[in-house]
Amino acid sequence: MATATATATAVKSTVVKISSLSPSQDFTKPLNSFVPKILPESHKPLQISLSKNPISEVFSLYKESRNPENSFEGDDDDKPREECGVVGIYGDPEASRLCYLALHALQHRGQEGAGIVAVHDNVLQSITGVGLVSDVFNESKLGQLPGDMAIGHVRYSTAGSSMLKNVQPFVAGYKFGSVGVAHNGNLVNYQVLRAKLEENGSIFNTSSDTEVVLHLIAISKARPFFLRIVEACNKLEGAYSMVFVTEDKLVAVRDPFGFRPLVMGRRSNGSVVFASETCALDLIEATYEREVYPGEVIVVDKEGVRSLCLMTHPEPKSCIFEHIYFALPNSVVFGRSVYESRRTFGEILATESPVDCDVVIAVPDSGVVAALGYAAKAGVAFQQGLIRSHYVGRTFIEPSQKIRDFGVKLKLSPVRAVLEGKRVVVVDDSIVRGTTSSKIVRLIKEAGAKEVHMRIASPPIIASCYYGVDTPSSEELISNRMSIEEIREFIGSDSLAFLSINSLKKLLGNDSPNFCYACFSGKYPVEPRGKVKRVGDFLDDGLSGNMESINGGWIERTRNQEEVSDKNLYLKQEINLSG
Ligand code: SF4
Repeated sequence: MATATATATAVKSTVVKISSLSPSQDFTKPLNSFVPKILPESHKPLQISLSKNPISEVFSLYKESRNPENSFEGDDDDKPREECGVVGIYGDPEASRLCYLALHALQHRGQEGAGIVAVHDNVLQSITGVGLVSDVFNESKLGQLPGDMAIGHVRYSTAGSSMLKNVQPFVAGYKFGSVGVAHNGNLVNYQVLRAKLEENGSIFNTSSDTEVVLHLIAISKARPFFLRIVEACNKLEGAYSMVFVTEDKLVAVRDPFGFRPLVMGRRSNGSVVFASETCALDLIEATYEREVYPGEVIVVDKEGVRSLCLMTHPEPKSCIFEHIYFALPNSVVFGRSVYESRRTFGEILATESPVDCDVVIAVPDSGVVAALGYAAKAGVAFQQGLIRSHYVGRTFIEPSQKIRDFGVKLKLSPVRAVLEGKRVVVVDDSIVRGTTSSKIVRLIKEAGAKEVHMRIASPPIIASCYYGVDTPSSEELISNRMSIEEIREFIGSDSLAFLSINSLKKLLGNDSPNFCYACFSGKYPVEPRGKVKRVGDFLDDGLSGNMESINGGWIERTRNQEEVSDKNLYLKQEINLSG
């Protein structure tokens, strides 16, 4: 798919403010009953003036510090990671600035790349970069993004050259115009789709599954534009909560299983906002209206807000981990308060796995709400026994391999006055590899605790996620390799208990079939087809000269970068010998 090149023709904007829309008008059409209208010729985009290649400029110094040789992945890295957060705004003259603020609110969903595409005078203008939202944007950059329609993205990714090109939103040109897309989730049939597209001549610029969506839109013959999106989405399998922007439309889509969240709100001037979490709506003073339903496409343009059903699924499979770890506690996700969920997880732990203790503490920040619930139910004081430093980035430079344990100490400091001589319950949200948990237990014991009892506010993680969350391979997951007693011994705590999956389901009540629990059960709602790209995987996209990329293929067991380097070295040696 070729991206549109810049043309000099000036085109008057066709974007109309949506403030005239009445909220009561917007969802009068039930799902499935939407009859697409063929737009008259005069409503079609007249001219594409500018469309940036998905390989976007990079505005950050952050990349300079991402040297895997001398950086250390801190304690946060023993957690699953959300890949992305998305936002879309229609009908506000400050759209890109609001996008920027909303991305700040979603920063916890991805810290390694951020971008905004704004539409002004029928031109899609994009700024993306590597680093935090505050690294990528400043006043002058936001000044370059005028217009009353914008989409934004924050991304989590691993290091490497691919990261620079994979920062979203992507913008591409197709026969009738330009389209920008921001995607949260992961497609499980990405490899199959990409192979087919490449067979038919498509050329890819990135290793991101999102680019496949743009190609599918480009080759679709459906009209009007949003039916191209529907046709493309019908070919996708896996998790996608996406926002698209064109010259005159904002479109929000959620996959039929509703793995990843996407909500809709409205500002007092009538502008419509989509965001991954309600915390983004709160920050920009938009009122939460509802979720984008699983399988729904919402189109916002000068005609108003219209909804149509992409594909229904009898049982959605929303990611329960949003409630356990990813989402902020002040968000409402899948119609539930994250704070209340986490507090109840803690209460259940206190009821089902009680232990005599003097104090309840949390692994901050994600364990705090569950610890509050545990403490309240147990009738024991909650105290801040560990203090998190908010000034250490997710990675930092270590002077030497030998003192790596300082990593946890840099981020978490024990409070001796709280811990000394006490029987301590410490609540965390999850255990992934177990390495950080063992360091935390040691930290608490070194501060004088008499006993340390670990309580985990989620079931044991035994399987990897294929739907947009970066988890290590199953072999690396401690709960997949060890019994609970073996894990207790490994981390060195006096006792260890997890939230049981049955209790979790019981808490969700009638809603429980509507959640995905695959990382606790290994039962995947959508089976991956072929090897599935996960964010931690290394896919060489053929642009960085890796010899194994000649077929655009996957590299086996690629999460271990040393192995990849060794393999490449071996290949090079072989070639040298034969040459
Ligand atoms: S496998 Fe786990 S992390 Fe992935 S979507 Fe399902 S519940 Fe969420």
